[in-house]
Parts: sequence; structure tokens; C-alpha cells
Amino acid sequence: MNIRITSSLDEQEITALTGAYKQVFGESNWEEGKKCAACGKKFRLSQAPTTCCQENVTDFYADEQVRQSIQSAQENFGFQIVRLFTQDLSGFSWGWQGSLPEINEEKLSVDYKEIAELGTRSANWFYLSELGVSTEERGRGYGRILLRILLATLPKNTPVILRTSMRSELYSLIQTEGFETVYDYGDQDARILSAKSL
Ligand SMILES: [Zn+2]
Repeated sequence: MNIRITSSLDEQEITALTGAYKQVFGESNWEEGKKCAACGKKFRLSQAPTTCCQENVTDFYADEQVRQSIQSAQENFGFQIVRLFTQDLSGFSWGWQGSLPEINEEKLSVDYKEIAELGTRSANWFYLSELGVSTEERGRGYGRILLRILLATLPKNTPVILRTSMRSELYSLIQTEGFETVYDYGDQDARILSAKSL
């Protein structure tokens, strides 16, 4: 196992990360592997049919879409990424810093005034954008390692905020890492915002 912590990625590294991203979120528990353009149904990568509604299913996330989201993330102030390599790239976690209003505008879209009280000691928050481990490497504590290493790179007292689903494995993980639910979207994906004041 090998861990790399960096604040930027080159083209080749973005390509590898794009592949890993699609693998990770294409399986349980997001199941965003393939989709049917006609009915909108999404499929787990390993269980996707070739066709649905008499049309070929397509990648849930197009390569270009993932590349662009990685590229735009790393243009943000305080971008930091931790990558885990076993045989290949099999885990990642990244995020960036900004004021809570900035993060809210770009990512959260909520009434953040109450959340803001949690982080008054610091002007900048860290938005934990992604954390994922490939299915083959799950259950080995790698997610926790990635999270702890990423947070350890932050300036002291930087509050951290992330969005996830209460049904995700990440939700169980962050609850044992001192995160608290600070907002409930109340949507069908059971999405919440969780924050930790470091
Ligand atoms: Zn369909």
C-alpha cells in the first residue's frame, strides 16, 4: 500500500483518477455505473444490462464530465488530494477550502446561517468533496485512513463540511470520526450535511 498526498494532478493522474472514480461510484452503494437515457434508471456497473427501453445503456458519468469536475476542483484554493495505491489507484479523497458562503454557493445550496456558528474561529472551511475506495479494497479501513490523512493536512481549527447520504458507508464512518449532522435535505437520497470543527 502506498499513499500520495498532493495539491495538484497532471493529465495522466487525472485519467487514472477518472477511471477509479467511475469504478468506485459505479458500484454499491451509489450504483452510478450505467444509465438508461430513456427511463433514467441507473445500474450498478457489475450488474448493468446492455440495453434498457430497447436502447444501449451508457456510462452514468461521462469521462469528460469527471475530468472536468476534477480539474475545476483542483483550481480551488487549498485543494488537497490523498490517493491510495494498492495494485492500482484504489482509493481517493479530496477537497478544497473556502468561506462557508462560497462553499454553499458552489456545492451546498442551503440556508447555512446555523451551520456557520460551528466554525466561527476560522474564516475558511474545508469542503470534503469526495471519498471513495474501490469495492475490492473495502472493509480494510482504507476510507478512515484516507479521511484522517486528508484532514491532517489542514491548518489547525479548520472546520470541515461534507455532503453524503445517510445510507452510505461514509455516513457510518464519519459518525465515528467526530462529525455531526448539521443539515438534512430531506430528499429521497437521504442526503445530509455533516460537519466537524477540528
Ligand atoms: Zn430504460
